[in-house]
Amino acid sequence: MTLARPIEPITASDGELRDALEVADLPALLPALAHVTGDLGLLREELRVDATLMGEDQGGLTPEQQGAIRALALETLIAFRDGGSVAAPMPTGPDLRVILQFMAGGLDIDDYLPMMREELALDSDLRAPHWHKDDVAPDRPFEVVVIGAGMSGIVAAYRLAEAGVSYVVLDKNADVGGTWLENSYPGCRVDIPNHYYSYSFAQRADWPLYYSPRSELYAYFRRCVDEFGIRPNIRFDTEVSSVEYDDATARWTVCTVDADGNERTIEADAVISAVGQLNRPQLPQIEGRESFAGPAFHSARWDHDVDLSGKRVGVIGTGCSAAQFAPLVAEEVGHLEIFQRTPNWQFPVPHYRHEVPQGFQYLLQHVPYYRQWYRFWLFWKSAELLRPMAEVDPEWPDMSTSVGEGNDLLRQMLTEAMLPQYEDRPDLIPKVIPQYPPASKRIIVDDGSWAEMLHRDNVTLTTTGIDRIVPEGVVTVDGELHEFDVLLYGTGFQPSKFLTPMKVVGRGGVELHERWAGDARAYLGVTVPGFPNFFMLYGPNTNIVVNGSIIWFSECEVRYVMDCIRHVLAGRHRALDVREEVHDRFNEEVDAENLRMAWGVSTVNSWYKSDSGRVAQNWPFPLLDYWTRTREVDPSEYELL
Ligand code: NAP
Repeated sequence: MTLARPIEPITASDGELRDALEVADLPALLPALAHVTGDLGLLREELRVDATLMGEDQGGLTPEQQGAIRALALETLIAFRDGGSVAAPMPTGPDLRVILQFMAGGLDIDDYLPMMREELALDSDLRAPHWHKDDVAPDRPFEVVVIGAGMSGIVAAYRLAEAGVSYVVLDKNADVGGTWLENSYPGCRVDIPNHYYSYSFAQRADWPLYYSPRSELYAYFRRCVDEFGIRPNIRFDTEVSSVEYDDATARWTVCTVDADGNERTIEADAVISAVGQLNRPQLPQIEGRESFAGPAFHSARWDHDVDLSGKRVGVIGTGCSAAQFAPLVAEEVGHLEIFQRTPNWQFPVPHYRHEVPQGFQYLLQHVPYYRQWYRFWLFWKSAELLRPMAEVDPEWPDMSTSVGEGNDLLRQMLTEAMLPQYEDRPDLIPKVIPQYPPASKRIIVDDGSWAEMLHRDNVTLTTTGIDRIVPEGVVTVDGELHEFDVLLYGTGFQPSKFLTPMKVVGRGGVELHERWAGDARAYLGVTVPGFPNFFMLYGPNTNIVVNGSIIWFSECEVRYVMDCIRHVLAGRHRALDVREEVHDRFNEEVDAENLRMAWGVSTVNSWYKSDSGRVAQNWPFPLLDYWTRTREVDPSEYELL
């Protein structure tokens, strides 16, 4: 299934095509044209991207290469149009390999080939469950409860429906969308390219912006739910308070509370938690916070009734959320003071807030398979490219500002992008340029808005620590009172407290949070020993820092969960429970690898670590590892009940 409109024949004139090519994404263009025409001769070696430059604009292609690609593409598109816009048959396996090899910029792709083919999703959805309950266990009643109707819960619902497995989705909110419903702060948008930050099974060629604002994403998820017929299976305003496993029946009892406080229970054979990591706001632990006299709210609980115009506004926090809302708030308020505890590295993306030009839109919607190849290119260049730049070199002499050669290169690149923005404000430079290794914290996507905001006359950046909050405002550690009418908290979430406040009781009455003791762990982020048929999406160690998108992870996780369910049904088991030693060995590997990454060794504040200092959030290995490990279940890793 796809939300993309059917491809229409090209009717544009030569001149219109020439103009469209001026604004097209070029690294994906020749592969798409080779595919659609069957002419692999278009893949000229001298027009190939260089893997080391992929992160740059147009994949680092030189102006000469770009000109040559446009000329070749124009000639090809004119011939294609004049021939009636008839696409060549789907490339054979060897031909597809040649095209993928061209796009990979000279990298050895053999290990990646199956993953690449699947990600391309050219003519079939290879991630779909290739089984149906009617064939596997037609007479067995099997009910699944999915908790959460956000991005990952929708994937689960979609795949369960495909496999004919009965399910219900429960969500505490009044609508779908999860994070994209709850975060309505000004400027909220995705920071992963949108043609890629979307379901592989619901691609769109007509995203209006490269990075959609929240309203567009919210509309997309709502549309998916409606078009896929998922909405009737969702119970809104229904918060799950507890889920409890019954050893005797091998079933789960799910207790819910609705908006009126009514409690209900639902029985299920399997439970999929899709509650996200970043949905419980963290208000800062600052003395006197409650005493502030004016309105004060968190970015994820934006109070749109509070009029900020002309007001004295304080912002505490400078992470991804504040980086999006503060520049817009600054335009409205009388004075904005930003309290920064730690500066952030920023990654330059000049088109972060740009619309996709009409010409490029036209090509995406009229050149068959260009949409898929463009999406794949976005995936590929972000897949493993930056990961080596976050790797620790144990021999690196000083780990305080970088952790290895690649990381130091990244540091230089980011510094070079940030410094010129403050040329005329040298006073800001020591405050805004971080002194810790990049990728220790999330790198913020930036198009210059932050620096522009800091240049405004009505904005102050304060780096003196906060001592307390008083009714009039904020008192810093130097004793100065900073008076405000409104306080805004961009202070993040409580990601280490996975699944809270839900109670999850497994075999033998063990409660999951007691087992975790503040340090959440799972096998592949999905299963935990002692919790049969309980599956997590975006669970422990499935967050990514420099590579991939969370949607990609959720799709891998759901495929794995679907294979778990298939095993249970096909083997006539009641449930499966991951073996303790498998879980422990996996976590040892993850912990060791996280200590080989910048975010693992750096001591800077980040939400990637639990209270014990262990990285409980991040996936440290290449994406290929996660894809390979979640492709199918190894039954020997599970106790089959
Ligand atoms: P965050 O990254 O955790 O940032 C919280 C900010 O609050 C940090 O600057 C932190 O300072 C500061 N802070 C926390 N407690 C404080 C205290 N007591 N006193 C002073 N400052 C305090 O939270 P976020 O910005 O909401 O982002 C969280 C994550 O959500 C992101 O990393 C990202 O994964 C996701 N997100 C994504 C997007 C997107 O573009 N798609 C947008 C928003 C969020 P320190 O740095 O010193 O800890």
